[in-house]
Amino acid sequence: MYKADFPIFANQKLIYLDSAASTQKPDVVLEAMDTFYKTIYSNVHRGNCQIAVAATEQYEQARQTVADFIHTTPDCIVFTKGATESSNLVASGFAQFLKPGDEVLVSLAEHHAVFVPWQQACLRSGATFKVVNVLPSGQLDMDDFKAQLTPNTKMVAITHLSNVLGVVNPIVEIVQQAHAVGAKVLVDGAQSVAHLPVNISELDCDYFIFSGHKIYGPTGIGVLYGKKEALESLPPYQFGGDMIKEVSVEKTTFASVPARLEAGTPPIVETIGLAAALKFVSKIGMTKIAAYEQALTQQLVEELCQIPNIQILGDPLLKSGIVSFSIKNLHPSDLAVILSRQNICVRVGHHCAMPIHRCFHQSVSLRVSLGLYNTPEDIQIFVQALKKALSLFNGM
Ligand code: PLP
Repeated sequence: MYKADFPIFANQKLIYLDSAASTQKPDVVLEAMDTFYKTIYSNVHRGNCQIAVAATEQYEQARQTVADFIHTTPDCIVFTKGATESSNLVASGFAQFLKPGDEVLVSLAEHHAVFVPWQQACLRSGATFKVVNVLPSGQLDMDDFKAQLTPNTKMVAITHLSNVLGVVNPIVEIVQQAHAVGAKVLVDGAQSVAHLPVNISELDCDYFIFSGHKIYGPTGIGVLYGKKEALESLPPYQFGGDMIKEVSVEKTTFASVPARLEAGTPPIVETIGLAAALKFVSKIGMTKIAAYEQALTQQLVEELCQIPNIQILGDPLLKSGIVSFSIKNLHPSDLAVILSRQNICVRVGHHCAMPIHRCFHQSVSLRVSLGLYNTPEDIQIFVQALKKALSLFNGM
């Protein structure tokens, strides 16, 4: 729908179906970063020359833009280098308060960026790492969730939209139940934020994490949202410049959040790019983007369901922009190689989510993931190419 806004599509026939890995960048993002570098580039929170003041203003304005986008306030937004760093920041800080007998709940469908830091936090602290089951439909097993949630549960870390199954989890219900036993909730919004309108005050989670590069922004910038008291409870993740109040030979005191969690020179220009990306999608409207991508997803699954021997991971009717599948007796890599010769980009692998593949008795899958630049024609070209590739294999 918005292909013309993305320069990568200008001079080549590219069918890009790997937005869950990373999205392409619109002109407005590249231009915002370029202009910043060419006009007011400077470090932030330090200098008092004109460009340093202007750079700091734009950096803090970017924090406001992020806060507006997810309906919160800027003092609840910490800039990191990505969802992975956001997850590690919370897990490593939280681990310092966990003790044997405490429990952390994640789901089988977590990306390793959530699964592994919390597994490690439990190993270090002696807390119990518990994993909620996923149903054959790809939905979280809510009965199992309720059974595993106890007054000992201190943290529930859960994806909003699975990067393999494309299923949206019932976050509001999960948060309500977790809070009822006194647990905190971290929501992994790395995929959801680009596909659905996100309203933090409605979700009511304690932490929400995402990466700029999956929502049409640059790499190297991520977001950690935290309720004020949830952020304040975290010890510093790194030590250095900009996160202190006072340093002396005897002792160091720390700045208040968010500065306390942003040690060193931040990814300044990347925040400018992220703000431009969020303004770009906001101008179109997240509700409109969600509806557009949902129609494309429906077209995709209807076509895929007609292919013999296809095994779609989870219920095809529950997908939001992400569909992973395998074909009986064929390695997905062989298909991807043929598709890539026609400049069709899909992803083959475990997508950093080995436990959920194991749950579906697969080691890898072929994943198709959509962005707002995809068109019904892209889907048609992909499906035709897939069918042709399959006919080659069937004829062998
Ligand atoms: N969570 C989910 C659901 C993801 O899909 C990803 C990346 O694919 C991440 C977390 C980690 O994001 P990043 O690699 O940008 O830190």
